[in-house]
Order: sequence, then structure tokens, then C-alpha cells
Amino acid sequence: MYKAFVIKYGEIGIKGKNRHTFEDALVSNICHALKTVDGDFKVEKEQGRIYVEALGEYDYRGALSALQKVFGIVTICPAVLTDDNGFDKLADEITAYIDKIYPDKNFTFKVHAKRGRKTYPMTSMEINAALGEKILERFPELKVDVHDPDVMIYVEIRDKKISFYSESYKGPGGMPVGTNGRAMLLLSGGIDSPVAGYMISKRGVRIDAVYFHAPPYTSERARQKVIDLASIVAKYSGPIRLHIVNFTDIQLAIYEKCPHDELTIIMRRYMMRIAEHFANEDGDLGLITGESIGQVASQTMNSLLVTNEVCTLPVYRPLIGFDKQEIIERSIAIGAYDTSILPYEDCCTIFVAKHPVTKPRLQPIIHSEEKLSSVIDDLFNKAIEGTETIEVR
Ligand code: ATP
Ligand code: MG
Repeated sequence: MYKAFVIKYGEIGIKGKNRHTFEDALVSNICHALKTVDGDFKVEKEQGRIYVEALGEYDYRGALSALQKVFGIVTICPAVLTDDNGFDKLADEITAYIDKIYPDKNFTFKVHAKRGRKTYPMTSMEINAALGEKILERFPELKVDVHDPDVMIYVEIRDKKISFYSESYKGPGGMPVGTNGRAMLLLSGGIDSPVAGYMISKRGVRIDAVYFHAPPYTSERARQKVIDLASIVAKYSGPIRLHIVNFTDIQLAIYEKCPHDELTIIMRRYMMRIAEHFANEDGDLGLITGESIGQVASQTMNSLLVTNEVCTLPVYRPLIGFDKQEIIERSIAIGAYDTSILPYEDCCTIFVAKHPVTKPRLQPIIHSEEKLSSVIDDLFNKAIEGTETIEVR
């Protein structure tokens, strides 16, 4: 029955030129998302709405689920699309629709008409009143409630067509990806970083990613897991350019030359440096991590300060104030959790000390890093040259 979707989006703060950028990006991202769905679709913007029309048979569930992942969409309304064959014909179609969607007629309703085409012979108010009357004639057990109706029946008179609808689904909100620059996500195989990427992407930011692995200490399966997580984030963010960095030699050098209780913090600093290198190459305006204050030794305020010191770009940590349980809930909601908890080793866990420093100080850490000075430039360049870059869709 539904051959179309009416897409509503937030309008606060998108005035003037911004509005066009916002709408054009949204239309383009909707088209992109629907490419993975069976069926052909036409996507058009018209008077503060976006209309998705299915051209022929299509996968309704698939389309709805794809639309629910497009940032910038606030509400998705499956709609009936019809031609203008006069008001009586329209009223017949709408009553037939109500009969079908609501077999139980024990509810209150209100008609809300919107007349985009000003040449339509009735005003919006006249449509509301006349349609309400027709509906009551056909279903006398219904009641009108103009203040707090159970069911709102929307009718939109458009240039060529008329759409009507009463059901709606929540979209993810946020801003269309591509309207706010791009940033580099440090993506591990854990629970946190995919959620962090999702959250920044939700604000309209395009995502690149970098993953550090340590073969042969970490396995091919661990690598595949990160690619799988990137593809889950990509369902929302669009394609992700993923840099896979071989971090083994740097980790071995740190292990060999630096105090073991400082391994993690020094390693994190090198990760940030390499991430920033690729961020600059990709035109990213910031780094993103899944850190949250106090979650582990490397995420105390002191550790964050020492890690942050190597970065020139801003580091966005959208989970900074979240408890683990809150992060897990979000991970489940975006569909990443089952993949995140697969038990494959991460490069950080392999060389971790029993008692890492929880309150590192900057000067001693810089001093320890000096012990790497004879080898680190070479290893740094080798890691960058050996990096494999793939596009994850
Ligand atoms: P996550 O669940 O995201 O792995 P975590 O609780 O394991 O987080 P850490 O291992 O301290 O925390 O990592 C903190 C952040 O550093 C991660 O959220 C991620 O952004 C980044 N990070 C950690 N390990 C890697 C890695 N191997 N490759 C890329 N980024 C990493
Ligand atoms: Mg981790």
C-alpha cells in the first residue's frame, strides 16, 4: 500500500545557504542508503520535506531500515501517494486507508492538511473540516480530538500528487554526513570506538579511520573484526577510508627500550602521532577516540593529558562522560555490540604491563621516549609506508 515515504527533518539552525547544503546532502545520502535496498526510488525535495517514491515493487522493511540510519532524518512517514481526481475521490481513498490500517475503530483523530499547491480549490482548513466530516460519516464510532488525537491524519496537496499518511517512525536525528567536514577515528576492535565514530558522524562529519594491529601477535580474525565494525559504522556514516597500520615493530621497540609500566601510555602517544599523520593526509579536521574518563589506566585525566600532548589537531572524545553500561547500550542500539565482543586479541592487550602507571607525568614519559630516538623515525616511516588503506562500505 505504501509507495512512498515522507521524510521530515529538523530545521533549527539551518537557514539561508546552510539550508540548501543540508537538504542537498540529505537527498544525496538518502539516495546512497537506498542503493542497498531492492527496488528503484525517486527522491525529491519539495517545500521543507523530502519525498521518497518507490517506482514499482520494492522491499518496504529494507527501505525503512535504511532510512532509519540516515543522519538528519527526524521522522519517516510511510505514505500513500495518489493523483488528484477531485476531493470526493480523495476522501474515499483516505477512508479506505483508515479502515485498513485501523481495524479497531476505538480512537480519536484529527485531520491535518497542508496545501503546497495554492491553486487547489479548497483551503487547508476547508479540507480539514470536510475530510473530518467524511471520515465520521463512514465511521461514526470515531471521535475528533483537535488537542490530543490518538491518530493524526496528514494530507499534503503537492504540485502534481497528493500524499496522505498517519504512521511514523523515528529517524536517527543529527545532521547529514558531509555537511561538517571529516575526522579521523582511531578504531579498535572494542566496544567504545565504533560508538564514538557513530556519534561524531551523527553530527554530519565524514569519517576516516585508522586501526593498529600487531601481526603475528594479533590475528587475521582480529583484523577482519575491525573491518566488520567499520562496515557497521559505515551503514550510518557512509563509506569509510580505513588505514590498517602494522604497529608490531614500534611496539616491540617500546617493549624493549622503555619502562614496562609506561608501555601503554607511550604506545598510545605513537598511535596518536600516526593517526594525525593520516588525518593530515586525508584532510581531517580532528581525531576521534572512544576514551572515557577513568575507564582504564590509560584514560585517567593524567593519562589523557599526556596522550593529548602529542596532538596538534583537536581530539574529540564523545564518550568522555559515559559509563561503560551507557556505551554498551548505544553499541547494542547501533548493531555493533555482537561484533565488538568477539574475543579476538587487540594489539594493546598483548604488550600490556601488570601495573601500568595511572598517573603518568609528561617529562618522565618524554624522557623514556628519548630511548627510542635511534630507531623511531625509521620505524615510524616504515609503519606509514607499509600501511594498507581500504575503502569500507
Ligand atoms: P575500545 O573499546 O574502543 O577498544 P578500550 O576501552 O579498549 O576502547 P583503550 O584500549 O584504552 O580503550 O583505547 C582507547 C581508545 O584508543 C579507543 O577507543 C580507540 O579510539 C583507540 N585505540 C585503542 N586501540 C586501538 C587500535 N588497536 N587501533 C586504533 N585505535 C585504537
Ligand atoms: Mg581497546
